[in-house]
Amino acid sequence: MKNSLTKEQFDILKNKGTESAFSGKLLYNKEEGIYKCVGCDNKLFTSDEKYDSGSGWPSFSDIYSDKSIKTKLDISFGMIRTEVICYNCGGHLGHVFNDGPSNTGKRYCINSAILKFKKK
Ligand SMILES: [Zn+2]
Repeated sequence: MKNSLTKEQFDILKNKGTESAFSGKLLYNKEEGIYKCVGCDNKLFTSDEKYDSGSGWPSFSDIYSDKSIKTKLDISFGMIRTEVICYNCGGHLGHVFNDGPSNTGKRYCINSAILKFKKK
């Protein structure tokens, strides 16, 4: 993982931190392009699957490829959730829920701080 990460990025990727809701600078980004992992440049999501879930975190209905992420059961904070980690570097990205509006039924709820946006 890169040494150039900010404290917040490091805290999310390595310590499973969560940025404050509505704080992320990519939350309302509507430009076309690809969202990558800030830790390793792995391609995670595209703008085509991004939507506004109202949750306060960037939300996606699908992943870029089957090499984008892995999921893991997360029972911290007294909740049963599915953690989303980067397929390549294993960094924590966010969680995935089964209440998405599209035909995938998925809502990938991802921390903006660990996303790197590459404009098309
Ligand atoms: Zn990564």
